[in-house]
Amino acid sequence: MVYLVGAGPGDPGLITAKGLALLRRAQVVVYDQLASPELLKEAPAAAEIIYVGKKAGAHAVPQEGINDLLVARAKAGLTVVRLKGGDPFVFGRGGEEAEELAQAGIPFEVVPGVTAAVAVPAYAGIPVTHRRYTTLVTFITGHEDPTKEASTIPWEALGKNPGTLVFLMGVKNLPEICRQLIDKGRDPQTPAAVIERGTSHAQRTVTGTLTDVAQVARDAQIKPPAILVVGGVVELRQTLKWWESRPLWGKTVVVTRSRQQASQLVALLAAAGAQCLEVPTLEIGPPDDFGPFDAALKSLAQYHWLIFTSANGVAAFMARLFEQGRDVRALGSLKIAAIGPATAESLRAYGLNADVVPPAFKAEVLLEALSPLVTPGSKMLLARAQIAREVLPQGLIRLGAQVDVAPVYKARAPKEIPPEAEAAFKAGRVDILTFTSSATVHNFVKLVGKERVQALAAMAVVASIGPITSSTLKEYGVTPQIEPADYTIPALAAAIVEYFANLQC
Ligand code: SAH
Repeated sequence: MVYLVGAGPGDPGLITAKGLALLRRAQVVVYDQLASPELLKEAPAAAEIIYVGKKAGAHAVPQEGINDLLVARAKAGLTVVRLKGGDPFVFGRGGEEAEELAQAGIPFEVVPGVTAAVAVPAYAGIPVTHRRYTTLVTFITGHEDPTKEASTIPWEALGKNPGTLVFLMGVKNLPEICRQLIDKGRDPQTPAAVIERGTSHAQRTVTGTLTDVAQVARDAQIKPPAILVVGGVVELRQTLKWWESRPLWGKTVVVTRSRQQASQLVALLAAAGAQCLEVPTLEIGPPDDFGPFDAALKSLAQYHWLIFTSANGVAAFMARLFEQGRDVRALGSLKIAAIGPATAESLRAYGLNADVVPPAFKAEVLLEALSPLVTPGSKMLLARAQIAREVLPQGLIRLGAQVDVAPVYKARAPKEIPPEAEAAFKAGRVDILTFTSSATVHNFVKLVGKERVQALAAMAVVASIGPITSSTLKEYGVTPQIEPADYTIPALAAAIVEYFANLQC
């Protein structure tokens, strides 16, 4: 079976639910220039991923080759997803591929996609139809050289066409397209826009009229893929340009959390328009020695309290418990304390409600919350990172508790930073640096070097999750401008958004 699936125009969220489900169970994925290559990560690890687009300096696999490939894989009994940008049947040669499959007797299905022809203008704040402006929209390929004699594009008709015109593949021919439209009767003052890499973080939009938009695009060095929109609806962009108006639009944010943890912060910042550069500063792995933790697990019943100081601790605790063939019932009537809301949230995923959750993510605050509950002789198990602050265990001991500290995971510093981050640092393309713990600060300095961190901090805005992290930053001569009142990831993201929203006012 071959599925011709539309991948959408760039924003990976614009694939359809059906397309995504098929991609996730594909055995073969055949793709060419995709505006959203991240989608390929959704394919199963075992899937064969075949690129049939243009390679640098070489030609694309000819259409015949693609057709043969689809037929061969399908005949081998494999589930093939032919992933195509936008919608497969809009200027995508999807029709030709489907014909070929039909001829070869291969069953196929088409999963329409969100076409760039509609979505790219939409992300630029341009509705392709609007009752006040036009009831007509035309999609045209601008690929063809408009000066060629026997044009298949009906320029005469387009010149008289009063509706919205959307040209795809037309960057090279922009001056000719505009000239033809004016020559054939369209008002030279008709508003026009060219949108490059629409729906992505790199989207750029230029506007003008039929008379000057080609020059404006040229001055801005607009390159393919781009779309030309012609018509009164382009005016609406002034009030409707939502994608490029988000508070963090155009900002590059460095996220220094571990890979496992970065997603929440990245999602929140990206939703506000930021481009996130992940520089993992922590790799979560097993502790050097599971001995003390395993010993504690064996005699869980002797403890009165179990204390978690991070979501990583919870995940590692549960993983080890399950590995040993046990589950949460082993916790029996143990009381549970979580250092903050995120840790409590991850406990909830295992069906556990923490008995104590202070509002702030800080050892001192947890200690305060626990102090009325600890009685002399209380036995407490602290399941945490191998390297951590001693404030909590020391404070609990001072309260008269017996405390066992059991390392259940170790956070290590990775060896190097990803190449995209390296390139951005070199080019000075960093607007915001985020730090979510002292460990991320120490490791970032180790990875990048103190002087370079200071140089980056001087050109960027620095955001720290809370006072402990901030004071670690200050040890390296970096003063954060942003620190939320709550020491949580959502609060950090909100504080960053607010900071930049205020700057814009
Ligand atoms: N089947 C696709 C179109 C393929 S033709 C669809 O339905 O969207 C390729 C052309 O689409 C490009 O030359 C460009 O004009 C347009 N295009 C595709 N993605 C784009 C994007 N993200 N931004 C601007 N134009 C895009």
